[in-house]
Amino acid sequence: MLPELDFGNTEIAFRHKNDSALKRTRFVFSMMQDPFIVKLSTKLTLFALKWHLPIDGILKRTIFWQFCGGESMQECTNTYAMLREKGVEGILDYSVEGQENEATFDAVRDEISRLIDNAKTYARIPITCLKMTGIARFNLLQKVSEKKTLTDAENAEFIRIQGRLDHLCGKAAKQGVTFYIDAEETWIQPAIDNLTEGMMATYNREKPIIFSTIQMYRHDRLAYLDNLIQKARKEGWKVGMKIVRGAYLEKENERAQQLGYPTPMQPNKAATDRDYNAAVRLCVENIEDTAVCAGTHNEASCLLLAELLDEKRINKEHPHVFFSQLYGMSDNITFNLAALNYNVSKYLPYGPVRYTMPYLIRRAEENTAVAGQVGKELLLVNREIERRRR
Ligand SMILES: Cc1cc2nc3c(=O)[nH]c(=O)nc-3n(C[C@H](O)[C@H](O)[C@H](O)COP(=O)(O)OP(=O)(O)OC[C@H]3O[C@@H](n4cnc5c(N)ncnc54)[C@H](O)[C@@H]3O)c2cc1C
Repeated sequence: MLPELDFGNTEIAFRHKNDSALKRTRFVFSMMQDPFIVKLSTKLTLFALKWHLPIDGILKRTIFWQFCGGESMQECTNTYAMLREKGVEGILDYSVEGQENEATFDAVRDEISRLIDNAKTYARIPITCLKMTGIARFNLLQKVSEKKTLTDAENAEFIRIQGRLDHLCGKAAKQGVTFYIDAEETWIQPAIDNLTEGMMATYNREKPIIFSTIQMYRHDRLAYLDNLIQKARKEGWKVGMKIVRGAYLEKENERAQQLGYPTPMQPNKAATDRDYNAAVRLCVENIEDTAVCAGTHNEASCLLLAELLDEKRINKEHPHVFFSQLYGMSDNITFNLAALNYNVSKYLPYGPVRYTMPYLIRRAEENTAVAGQVGKELLLVNREIERRRR
């Protein structure tokens, strides 16, 4: 037990928000509490964006404000500084999704290259992240994952993807900026895993700087992690692993059902939780040559990692141990861990309002779907509003 770690301390959790910001947060989460309102507003928003209706302003003052740092890297400066002041690293996350052409992929590579410079300049523990579909065409990743023969043009395209990735990982490694590569849908993940393992084998020789991501809602991932740790040890490199539960549960189950293959998902939430915690344990047991980032809003999993560090007498600030939450969610976890000097970060998404919509819709749906998440956020916000009144 760690009596000093109290995720219920709302004073620490919300001291970065003044009263009106706190009330605005309450408003956003109240809206998200009702699945009907979320579904309806998602439909209306997509319609308005399609027909170029002027709704950017209202989005910017509500859901975008809650979950994003700004429309550009510059606009995130204040949020980034606020996080740093409270001992939390901001991981600027360029959240433009669904733009698939070579010019956009190159532009994303260049933006992330600037993020590496930015992190190096401003962060105490610099971290950057990448979604592979930001620099690679989804259908090509799928074709590679299915081990289908590529045409000459596709081969050339894939070589360009490897080039973009290697450029970014090489730069991050050179500058000592930790680099997280996110996990996506299972039918493109084999290609992402292969590319990421290649980067880790190249750049993680001395220390884990490139991180892969595993989604523990998959029933095969614990075995994958175990094998990867053994393989890396044999080959003389270190594993960096962000552990998450996974963001595409419904989509995965629906696809498996439609196409008639067994779902790669766990049978239930308890199995996901069990494997999540087992993966955290496995990384901590191999802490000398494995680095772990617990990317989660689950209090029990965060507490487990903190307790394991305590039990094994591993320093809270050990360079192989990180906690991370998404901006706008679970401030009670982030800021209470930071107050006790754990390595904590927040993904801080940014991008033009209309291009961040896929990300924001995922957040809204996830918050509505994840049992109790919105309720928990609201309870904490209300408790803090009440505490300040007294
Ligand atoms: C810093 C950070 C980085 C992230 N990066 C990624 C990423 O790269 N890729 C990605 O996919 N997601 C990513 N996520 C999102 C993450 O996967 C989860 O969607 C989200 O964090 C909710 O899970 P949780 O552990 O926080 O909370 P919890 O509320 O404990 O768990 C909710 C999750 O449990 C799982 N679950 C729910 N019901 C069931 C069920 N019936 N059967 C099986 N499993 C179930 C689902 O994964 C669901 O999202 C990231 C999250 C964070 C905080």
